[in-house]
Amino acid sequence: MRPYKLTSILFVIALVLLDIAYLGGIVEWWLLLLPFVAYISLLALGAIFIEWNFYLRSFNKGKKEKQIALTFDDGPAEITPAILDVLKEQNVQAAFFTIGKNAAKYPELVQRWHEEGHVVGNHSYHHGFNFDWQSRRKMVAEIEQTNHVILTTIGVTPLLFRPPYGVTNPNLARAVSQTGMYSIGWSVRSLDTRAKEPSKLLNKLLNEIKSGDIILLHDSMAITREILTDFIVQARKKGFTFARVDQLLDIDAYA
Ligand SMILES: [Zn+2]
Repeated sequence: MRPYKLTSILFVIALVLLDIAYLGGIVEWWLLLLPFVAYISLLALGAIFIEWNFYLRSFNKGKKEKQIALTFDDGPAEITPAILDVLKEQNVQAAFFTIGKNAAKYPELVQRWHEEGHVVGNHSYHHGFNFDWQSRRKMVAEIEQTNHVILTTIGVTPLLFRPPYGVTNPNLARAVSQTGMYSIGWSVRSLDTRAKEPSKLLNKLLNEIKSGDIILLHDSMAITREILTDFIVQARKKGFTFARVDQLLDIDAYA
């Protein structure tokens, strides 16, 4: 049972028991508010932390000793070719979770991802701020639209889906299940979209990595390209090898 369902059941039980206690004159009225506050807090935290697997099961970490996987979100973007140059030079295969409208804009970069041995995943079509407030039907439409762009560009249908912002909720859980996708989270969040100093970003990543980690990066960020060679070289010196996320997890990347 998902934590979401268990939490909902416990919420109802707590509410009924407290109601009985209140009617029996055992507790004060304000104690009735406690289950609401706890329930709403848990629902919100469960939405934010994909690694809790609160609403749906996501793959957030692998089990292979000393292997780590690089994942890049939000591309293709202008910086993508430079990132691909680094990966080629260092002989590292990664995963690119593409925003469908960007894939439609830069089909030649989607082809380059595929030709250079990287895996292409789905990261919604618009990646709008309102993505998580949409109905299941609209989420399914975005996932399918992006899969269609990828299929017509490189001839394969992705199975890997990364929720925009890593936010999950019941509608998304149903959309992922309906489309038969695997939800892919992460265990190391680089925060490269907010990073200002390359050396800090590099050190943060090198200090955090452990066996099986899935690292979240963005191929829309110049700072990410700046640290990428150093990160790969120094992670290798620490004994890590780079695997593609589908290989790290032993799952199929395409239908
Ligand atoms: Zn994103």
